[in-house]
Amino acid sequence: TIGRIFDLTVQKYPNKEAIYDVRKNLRLSYKEWSVQVNKFANALLAEGVTKGDRVSTFLFNTEELATAFFACTKIGAVFNPINFRLMSEEVGFILQDADPEVVLYEKALEPVVAALKDRFSRTSFWYIDEDAPDYASSYQQKVAGASDASPEVSVDENDLYAIMYTSGTTGRPKGVLHSHREIVEQSLIVIGATKLDSYDIGLVTAPMFHCAELHCAFLPRIHAGASNVVLHQFEPKKVLSLIEKERITKLFAAPTMWNMLLQEDLKQFDIGSLKLGLYGAAPMAPSLVRACHDQLGISLVQAYGMTEMGPAITFLGEKDQLTKAGSAGQACLNHEVRIVRPNENGPSEPDDVMPAGETGEIIVKGPCMMSGYFQRKEITEKTLYKGWYHSGDIGYLDEDGYLWVKDRVDDMIISGGENIYPREVEDILHAHIRVLDAAVVGQPDDRWGETVTAFVVKKDASITEEELDEWCKNSDQIANYKRPRKYIFCEALPRNASGKIQKFILRKQLEDLSIPGTG
Ligand code: AMP
Ligand code: MG
Repeated sequence: TIGRIFDLTVQKYPNKEAIYDVRKNLRLSYKEWSVQVNKFANALLAEGVTKGDRVSTFLFNTEELATAFFACTKIGAVFNPINFRLMSEEVGFILQDADPEVVLYEKALEPVVAALKDRFSRTSFWYIDEDAPDYASSYQQKVAGASDASPEVSVDENDLYAIMYTSGTTGRPKGVLHSHREIVEQSLIVIGATKLDSYDIGLVTAPMFHCAELHCAFLPRIHAGASNVVLHQFEPKKVLSLIEKERITKLFAAPTMWNMLLQEDLKQFDIGSLKLGLYGAAPMAPSLVRACHDQLGISLVQAYGMTEMGPAITFLGEKDQLTKAGSAGQACLNHEVRIVRPNENGPSEPDDVMPAGETGEIIVKGPCMMSGYFQRKEITEKTLYKGWYHSGDIGYLDEDGYLWVKDRVDDMIISGGENIYPREVEDILHAHIRVLDAAVVGQPDDRWGETVTAFVVKKDASITEEELDEWCKNSDQIANYKRPRKYIFCEALPRNASGKIQKFILRKQLEDLSIPGTG
């Protein structure tokens, strides 16, 4: 179990620095942290939380979130980290669905939580308050008097460990259920793929409520006995100066974060300690991977996956970054990835395998696969049809067995009967030196069905539509029909917490723009 992983690391490395919470300026050794974890676990038990009950967190990256995570796992409570960017109604949906006993939230998020306290009167709301001078909070009060003995609850590896809600761009979010065993397997795989050991010092700056940071960076480091520096929110300058000061060796960041780091004056920082950068959770343009490689001078590893799979299912290793740039790499240990013929009338058949080089739906099987969606039997059966997770992503496997993720099925554009994967076009635009960010969506069109529209964030104000059109024309990588027919320049692209572009917002913007009479 995950609680057992924690206890074993505490036994092995009692006096080693385990966690440094930057905002609080608090450093804890594994032994000291273990006291906190036990106290919190006992406070939850005293509140009446029993095995199988849910405990939610609505927090920035903090020591308390990390403590709650291990405290829950030690008493078999189902951990439910909630995205701190969500609004009242969205959080309300999750609380309604997950029905937690306790919600631990950040006082700064009180405006979002206030409206929910009456609605969920059965639930205990505990807060942490970073701004209170004595750091007094209802959380502190609950924990202060609790025993620091390790709680005696027997938790099995097949018990549920967490319920995590997928962002779901359409429809209501689904609660992904994972057992301890599934995520312990994920942790082991990540330790291998990112070469973690107890000498590593990781920086936690991507949101911990998302499985990419939690399961592919933070947890494996605890597993390996490494140290963690926890930054409450991503700030590029702060990240670079922490790498220098804390001698950070490993960092996970979403593509958009890497892009922001590259915009800083890198000469001002000594980031020589950084050995490996992990990227993923959203597509990263090959030109951006190259820029990270050249300008940061670090080794890179890509992870591709989804919450339902723990999340990583493939890795692109450091030695393949330039030779296979743009690929998502090869299946993780103990995993199998297949490309199958998409089926419009139901889940794709796992045996209807496409030949190498041909595009189809990506399906996958492995030990970290979710137990299912909470209270969503029908959609669970479809998604896990015949024991394979059906990703809804399209891509192909090349002759060497490397996976190339083209896009989401739902984001594909069909123009004049031809399929266009927005990512191909986005990658070309990204490669332009004066483009900071780009997204491509389909615009409904009477003649072509859809045409390609590009949203572009300029790096340099002087760039024009004509110039970008020339760039696409001169690129030998995209056919004429894939060229954007329209460019919309904007300040920033709407992205969710894991860095994915929220295309439904862009499509809505296009719709609003094309209402006759409004221009
Ligand atoms: P979520 O579970 O909500 O974080 O989203 C999973 C989805 O993110 C996948 O199905 C992919 O569409 C996308 N994704 C994750 N990692 C990558 C990656 N390395 N490259 C491209 N897309 C990715
Ligand atoms: Mg998803």
